[in-house]
Amino acid sequence: MSAVKAGLKIPMKCNNITYHEGKVSREDRYRVLGQKGLVVWLTGLSASGKSTIAVEAEKILNSMGKAVYRLDGDNIRFGLNSDLGFSERDRFENIRRIAEVCALFRDAGLIVIASFISPLVGMRQLAREKNSENFIEVYVRADVETCMKRDPKGLYRRALSGEIKDFTGISAPYEEPANPELILDTQNNSLGECVQLLVDKILEMSALKD
Ligand code: ADP
Repeated sequence: MSAVKAGLKIPMKCNNITYHEGKVSREDRYRVLGQKGLVVWLTGLSASGKSTIAVEAEKILNSMGKAVYRLDGDNIRFGLNSDLGFSERDRFENIRRIAEVCALFRDAGLIVIASFISPLVGMRQLAREKNSENFIEVYVRADVETCMKRDPKGLYRRALSGEIKDFTGISAPYEEPANPELILDTQNNSLGECVQLLVDKILEMSALKD
């Protein structure tokens, strides 16, 4: 399913606007921060470990003096996306807005760690297209049985009883990434190992080369 198929070809409502260029380039901002802006997109089932890993990676990178910011699925739905539900169209709109926010933060020079289930290939494509070269897709992998056993928020239990509809992995699909830049296998690796792999990749990708 693509964004267009999900009904998300949103026409612009305004024709008489012009993009206003500034005098500070993205590279100028990167130089001030001593790093490249980067979008790190964590995808995976609910309870696969995205948020837990993102929190730890953010802490380590911050303590190293990196400008890093975490965007998390539920948190965004409290504010910016509080008007959206979990239909396919709303899920696409959720990702479209987040991808736009990521692009702004990356443009500002931040390392953005975005944790969103983003279950469909088309959703991750949308985020990648918006962020072009400074984007890495990270598949936080654990199978549905493992996630059901963990169930830190009790969501699988409620989904299995039918209380929650359209739940990814139970009653809504999850399309595995075909070519992610990194896979974190949280079933067979400790939290510490996963975090270290992620931090190393981020440091490599956000380094300013002269
Ligand atoms: P998600 O953000 O993907 O929905 P959470 O981070 O909220 O997932 O929950 C993942 C759960 O799995 C947590 O309770 C965490 O302690 C546990 N867990 C077990 N092993 C790992 C691991 N290797 N990496 C990340 N989380 C793990």
